[in-house]
This record gives sequence, C-alpha cells and structure tokens, in this order.
Amino acid sequence: MKPEQLKETILKLKDDQNAVILAHNYQQEEIQLLADYIGDSLDLARYSAKVKENVIVLCGVDFMAQTAVLLNPDKTVIIPDPEAKCPMAAQLPAELVREAKQKHPDAAVVLYVNTLAEARAEADVTCTSANAPLVVNALEEKKILFGPDRNLAWFVQRRSDKQIIPLPDRGYCYVHRMFSPADIMLLKERYPDAEVLVHPECDPEVQQLATHICSTSQMLLRAKASPAKRFIIATEVGLVERMKREFPDKEFIPALETAVCEQMKLHTLEKLYLALRDIKHVVHVPPEIAARARAATERMLEISGRATSD
Ligand code: SF4
Repeated sequence: MKPEQLKETILKLKDDQNAVILAHNYQQEEIQLLADYIGDSLDLARYSAKVKENVIVLCGVDFMAQTAVLLNPDKTVIIPDPEAKCPMAAQLPAELVREAKQKHPDAAVVLYVNTLAEARAEADVTCTSANAPLVVNALEEKKILFGPDRNLAWFVQRRSDKQIIPLPDRGYCYVHRMFSPADIMLLKERYPDAEVLVHPECDPEVQQLATHICSTSQMLLRAKASPAKRFIIATEVGLVERMKREFPDKEFIPALETAVCEQMKLHTLEKLYLALRDIKHVVHVPPEIAARARAATERMLEISGRATSD
C-alpha cells in the first residue's frame, strides 16, 4: 500500500474499530502526524484515563501501554510492535524492589512510570520526569527509595531535603546518557543566544549546563512561552521534530542528532495498520498486579492533578 493510502486506511479502521491512537513525543513523525494525541508519559497516562473509545493503540514502549491498561481495565490496549520495550524499565525487576523495601522498611517507594507494572505494584506512588520532585515532596516519609533512573534521582535530590536512595544503584536511559558536557559546551559557544533545555535523565554534568531542566512536555511549554528564538534540545530527537513543526518561527538544535530511542522507533505505519486491523498485540497485566500498580499510578495522578488545579 502507498503511504497516503495506508494513512487513509488506518484512519478508517480507527473509526470502524472504535479506536484512539496515542503517540509518545519520541515516535516517528509519520505516526505523530496520524495520532489523536501526542504527549509524554504523564500526558499519555492522563489522556488514556479519559478516552471514550474501546480500543487504545499505544505507540510508545511497554510500560506506557501497561499504564494505559492499568487505567482502563475495561478497554483493549494494543501496541503496534510488542518488541518496543524500554531497556531502563527492564533494569528494575520487582524482586529488587521487594528486597530494598525489606532493607529500608521506613522508606516510601517512588517509582518512575518508566518501570514495568510488576515492579510498580511494589511502589507507594509512581512519578514522571515532569512531576517527580512534586510527588516526592508530597509524601510524609523522610526516606525515599527511588528508581530506576539514577540521574532523575539526582535531579530530585537537588529539589528535596529527603534522603533519596537510588534503586537500582545505577539505573539509566541509554539515550539520555549519550549527551556529553563537551557537546553542549560547543553548541553554547556557537549559539550563545540559545536556551539549553535538558531532560532530567541526562547526566548531572549535562543538567548543570541547562538553562532549564524539563520533561518533554515542559520543553514544549517553555519553547512556546520563552522570548528566545533558538533552543538547544537535549532529549530524544523525535521531540525536536515536533518542536520544529509546532513552532516554525523558532529554531531548535538537537544537542545530539544520534540521540534516538531505537525501541520507540520500532513502530511503523505498517505495523500500526496490522495491529489495528487484527486487534493484535493486546497488552495484558495480571489483575492482582494491575490493582496494586493502578493504586500507585492513581496516587500520582491525584498528587499531580492537585498541583495542576492549585
Ligand atoms: S528514551 Fe530511554 S527511557 Fe525512554 S523508552 Fe527509550 S530507553 Fe526507555
């Protein structure tokens, strides 16, 4: 099928199947352009909790699809390519969380949503890069087991007087660890008027060179609100493409052209079409795990919603 024909077929199928297509900011442009909604993990979690359609096509990685399942137990959630699995989420098995809880019984467990449902079922609350300090500071406990991203833990520690214990010791996102201080310094010298927007999954040395440290949705808000005309962007390049599209009068320079999340890019229009046509690659989370992980996710939405409406 030719690309245009494929797009039209997908849109028709979407209506026939009573489906909605959600895409993460790091998706291929062709998928973003077709999606009903594009956002970061928190946006997608919030949006999926409100959809009316029976089928949710989640163009993101495994843990995002699991979040949609947790928040929509009566709907069918499908993922175009089931191999789209986040390597960072895989770094924190549930067993490791259980062991850490035994070792630190007085600590609250805050897990980034970039964690598989089985581990999230062990958490008191989840968080995203957009709301991590807010969630941690809303808790009563003074000690926090925080995982799986060590750089995000460092970012939170700088914004909280609680004791943050990273779990595992060195969890990381391979995409955000690609950025180097030297690359950022070079771009800053070349474009001294540019704002530098850095994702909190980047190394501390890179975060320290930022004008603002933001989640992807916060980067979009900053690009819109800022008087600056030029931005150096340190996150996955899919977001840079979205920024160029949405703010054509501003300039966006990727801090690293090769910062690509291979797992996110596994989804294609062809795979989206096949999954939607056959309602295949349905994501399942065992009910007992889902109930506990849902409670941790809902607590996050409650805390972040409370802050939004304040
Ligand atoms: S960008 Fe990093 S955290 Fe996000 S899905 Fe890819 S590997 Fe996982």
